[in-house]
Amino acid sequence: MAPKGDNVVVSNMKLERLLSMKGGKGESSYANNSKAQALHARSMLHLLEETLDGVQLNSPEVPFVVVDLGCSCGSNTIYIVDVIIKHIIKRYEGLGYEPPEFSAFFSDLPSNDFNTLFQLLPPLANYGGSMEECLAANNHRSYFAAGVPGSFYRRLFPARSIDVFHSAFSLHWLSQVPESVLDKKSMAYNKGRVFIHGADESTAKAYRKQFQTDLARFLRSRSQEVKRGGSMFLVCLGRTSVDPTDQGGAGLLFGTHFQDAWDDLVQEGLVNSDKRDNFNIPVYAPSLQDFKEVVEADGSFAINKLEVFKGGSPLVVSQPDDAAEVGRALANCCRSVSGVLVDAHIGDRLSEELFSRVECRATSHAKDLLEQLQFFHIVASLSLIHA
Ligand code: SAH
Repeated sequence: MAPKGDNVVVSNMKLERLLSMKGGKGESSYANNSKAQALHARSMLHLLEETLDGVQLNSPEVPFVVVDLGCSCGSNTIYIVDVIIKHIIKRYEGLGYEPPEFSAFFSDLPSNDFNTLFQLLPPLANYGGSMEECLAANNHRSYFAAGVPGSFYRRLFPARSIDVFHSAFSLHWLSQVPESVLDKKSMAYNKGRVFIHGADESTAKAYRKQFQTDLARFLRSRSQEVKRGGSMFLVCLGRTSVDPTDQGGAGLLFGTHFQDAWDDLVQEGLVNSDKRDNFNIPVYAPSLQDFKEVVEADGSFAINKLEVFKGGSPLVVSQPDDAAEVGRALANCCRSVSGVLVDAHIGDRLSEELFSRVECRATSHAKDLLEQLQFFHIVASLSLIHA
């Protein structure tokens, strides 16, 4: 008899009310499973800095405003905001100006664990203090911080109020699973699968369309919020293949052991096949072309840079020969990003069963995983075109 799922959330709940990375500081939390993202972000710092060099500096009397969209709850966002602000301070000083005051907005969906994030923030440097105090204030932050809950596919800030938008590893999250993908009567119904990797062409088309509609909404909102002379630096999962049913690293993460683990639950009678087919990962790793078409059609932003960047493996392990550690890392990585959605769909207990099967399967393919699991990212540096 299948255990009844506990804490199953009504499955038609809107994704933006539900989605978050796994909060807290536990083993499968995002905070504990985002070292790979940190490494990938560090390898792209030169590209971020190039974007920052192109941002127009205004009078130091006006606060400089930085936003991180899809900040999540780990320390990556704090690190990046710090890099951005230090770079801008350097630019002001290089021109012989006192730097302005800084505001940083950490933005994510309302279910994000903002509490964990806020606890990680270093204390505010003493603005009224002496220079000696400021210099002694190692590990203090030199900006005012605030959290902004809401979907980045809509407006989040007043018009012309932001100097720099940054977003890393977030824009591949769709605003929803396309409706046709969940509709049994539709050609795009993703029967037997929980992701588009290896799916039919019509399923892939529906995902692609959703990605492009979402990105268009994102750009339209940001084009209103960014100041004239402001810029955006965007990084999201991408793919090198033209074919969207080959999702590259994302495909391996959600389309192989994760898929097989769902099939295990169905075969063992713990979940029925409709329940599995009703679950789809709302992620789409675009090709450069998919991304570029939307930016060009929107027309508000000049493309300073748009490229595919090899990020590396999402698995950070201390003993690559230890298959059990690799298997655990894959399961934790997968769970830290999709666990909240799985819990909501089948409940905590079945979710536990699912991820233990992911771990088991990944452990027996540890060597292949280390060799084959590579993430590519789309990196975009965009500036508002002056009207
Ligand atoms: N930028 C962080 C975290 C990336 S995890 C880092 O570099 O480590 C991806 C984040 O995007 C998650 O926290 C998720 O909640 C957020 N996200 C996904 N869809 C979103 C949306 N529509 N609006 C805002 N945030 C979103």
